[in-house]
Amino acid sequence: MFNKRTGWIVLLLCCIALLIFLWGRTKMQGVPILAYHEVVADGEMYSIDPKQFEAQLNYLKQEGYHSVSLHDVFEAREGRGTLPDKPIVLTFDDGYEDNYTQALPLMEKYGFSGTVFIISSKPGEEEYLSWDEIRTMQDRHTEIGSHTVSHLALDEVPRAEKQQEIVDSKRVIEEKIGRPVEFLAYPFGAYDKDCFEFLRNAGYRGACAGVPGYNLPDDKNPYRLKRVNIPRPHFGLMEFKLRILKSLLFSPFT
Ligand SMILES: [Zn+2]
Repeated sequence: MFNKRTGWIVLLLCCIALLIFLWGRTKMQGVPILAYHEVVADGEMYSIDPKQFEAQLNYLKQEGYHSVSLHDVFEAREGRGTLPDKPIVLTFDDGYEDNYTQALPLMEKYGFSGTVFIISSKPGEEEYLSWDEIRTMQDRHTEIGSHTVSHLALDEVPRAEKQQEIVDSKRVIEEKIGRPVEFLAYPFGAYDKDCFEFLRNAGYRGACAGVPGYNLPDDKNPYRLKRVNIPRPHFGLMEFKLRILKSLLFSPFT
C-alpha cells in the first residue's frame, strides 16, 4: 500500500528520471555555442590568453568535438544536411583583430573554424579587424555575422534605432564581404520581442542571446540561441570543462 512517504519518494524518483532523460537528450542532440571575445595575453575579463585558448581547443579535439558553423546547424535543422558527431560552434563577438592574428591560426592547427560577429562601424579602427582581414577570414572558412552597427543594448533603444542597428549592419557587412549575413549576436546578450520581428523581416535566420545552455533541434525561437560564455579562466582548463557541463545541466531550465 502507498503511504504518503512512499508517494513522495516515487515522485522524487520520477523527477530524477525525467531530468536524466532531458540531460541525455540534450547531450545527444544539443549543440553548444561557445562565446569568446578577444584572444590576447593580459587582457580584460572577457579576453582569453592564446595559450589557454589553445588548451581549450586541444581538449575539444581530444573529446571528439567537431566545429560547425551556425549555417550548418540551421541547414541540418531544416533537413538540408547532417551534423557531425559532437558538433560545437566557436563564436567571437566584436571583431577584434586578434581573432585573425591569434585565434584563426590556432583553430586551423586543430582543424576547427569559427564564427565572428562584426560591429559594422568598427572595422579598421585600432584593435579591430579590417575589412580585408574579415574577407581573408571568410576565405579561410570563418562564418561572418553581425553584432549590430554600434554595439548598443537593443532592449534599451527606441524601436526605430533598434531596427536600424539590425538592418543596416547586415547590409553594410554583406556589401563588404559579398555574402549573405545570416546570424546576429546581441550586444551584451540584450534583446526584446521587437528584435525578433526586425530580425525576421531583415532575413536573419537566427540570433545568439546570452542565455546559457545547449541548442536543441526543436527549440522554438531561432532568435534566442543559447551560448556558453567563456571569459578569462581563473582555474585553467577545469573551469572550461565545468562551464560546458554547467551549461548542459542547466539546459532543461533555460
Ligand atoms: Zn559585444
